[in-house]
Amino acid sequence: MNEFSLLIDGKAHAGRGAFGVINPATGQVFAQCPRADAALLDAAVAAAKAAFPSWARTPAAERARLVHALADALESRSDEFARLLTAEQGKPLGQAYYEMMASVGTLRTFADMTIEPRILRDDANGTVIEHRTPLGVVAAITPWNFPVILLMNKVGPALVAGNTMVVKPAPTTPLTTLLFGELCRDILPAGVINIICDENDLGGLLTSHPDIAKVAFTGSTATGRKVMQSAATGIKRVTLELGGNDAAIVLDDVDVQEVAGKVFHGAMLNAGQICVAVKRAYVPAALYDPFCDELARLAEAMVVDEGTRQGAEIGPVQNRAQYEKVKEFLADASANGKVIAGGEALDRPGYFIAPTIVRDLPRDARIVQEEQFGPVLPVLAYDDLDSLIDEVNASDYGLAGTVWGQDRQRALAVAMQIDSGTVWVNQHMAIDPSIPFRGSKQSGLGGELGEAGLHEYTQAHIVNMAA
Ligand code: NAD
Repeated sequence: MNEFSLLIDGKAHAGRGAFGVINPATGQVFAQCPRADAALLDAAVAAAKAAFPSWARTPAAERARLVHALADALESRSDEFARLLTAEQGKPLGQAYYEMMASVGTLRTFADMTIEPRILRDDANGTVIEHRTPLGVVAAITPWNFPVILLMNKVGPALVAGNTMVVKPAPTTPLTTLLFGELCRDILPAGVINIICDENDLGGLLTSHPDIAKVAFTGSTATGRKVMQSAATGIKRVTLELGGNDAAIVLDDVDVQEVAGKVFHGAMLNAGQICVAVKRAYVPAALYDPFCDELARLAEAMVVDEGTRQGAEIGPVQNRAQYEKVKEFLADASANGKVIAGGEALDRPGYFIAPTIVRDLPRDARIVQEEQFGPVLPVLAYDDLDSLIDEVNASDYGLAGTVWGQDRQRALAVAMQIDSGTVWVNQHMAIDPSIPFRGSKQSGLGGELGEAGLHEYTQAHIVNMAA
């Protein structure tokens, strides 16, 4: 196994001590991760600050060339990255490859974007030009469910716009980020990207650091709140991509088998650990029984195994804390509803949970109201579509959601009423780096991806010249 290093000012750094990284499929430590301390954090921020003026002045075309070079390097080592991703995150290898290729695509999409100045006025009164300037040092903080793609969503726009970065991955999935650091070390000028790792103890220091201009954060709503508070002192820019409790609304004209399959996979992919996974499904009362039965059949048929095993469809939950949390949800599910598939942890090493379908729950059950972030789907019946829309919108979250129906106009009309950043109709997780993605309500602030996502790493600068 590779020796991993932090990246500070273009140099590999052994850190101040190390901590073990656990393979969630075995529950055993398989690698050591170097850890930073407050002094190394300061050094990383200082390096990013020192690198900023020259990187910001580097012609945009040259910055784009280097981001393309990162994408090419990532692609050429995607096999190694995917294996490491499966080892630290747990997802099946095929899904790890998919994350790698999507990451490459995201970098390329941003590298191909340009930020043109806009002439807001050019007449007898004068000339007004709006152009966009980089912000400075961006702190990028990522979670453990998609450690690579969620980092590239930040690296692509931040670098293309001319910012420098300090990156901090989640402590349970730091290794693919450190491996990416090796590519950065070879390709980028020193200090443009710096990577530090912690054991959940340096986030606050990073977000409150006076030399950080912006915090790009993906993680839970609870931590997002802390990030916002800590950024307040310096009026730092923040982008928060937070939690969700996305609903799948099934309309009464669907083909049950087909749509149950799509809803099921939308709930179970990545062992349900996706911000935009289906976290509650609503089905018309008339279709409720056959729909639940089909979901249960699919859950029972799912191959749950180590991500490296041929044929594995669903891997373990990523870490012990989340595993314990999902088990609490399972206890709540069996106490308050009817578990028709799964319902328990598997009796084997690692953090495996059987894909679980629960029906006949009260509307206010914890498993319906909260984000489970595991392979567990509550299914509820409804009679009246208008009151269902109100019920779905009553959540504090508003990340995404899906609507399923053969009558496209009716499905569209329902989608238009859902209070969330994205609603997919008759498809799920059609995430595209050129399309903006953002949460409403407590699911986020600002957004990533698309041109709007690039603009989040800039500020508008107005030059107003007399005629
Ligand atoms: P988390 O909030 O526990 O941790 C996320 C990151 O924040 C980690 O790197 C962690 O070390 C760091 N952190 C911890 N304390 C901090 C602090 N005080 N200040 C700054 N950073 C701190 O989230 P998680 O459990 O790793 O991830 C799961 C959550 O992420 C879920 O709620 C999920 O919905 C959400 N998520 C959202 C999106 C999105 O795009 N909206 C995408 C993926 C995941």
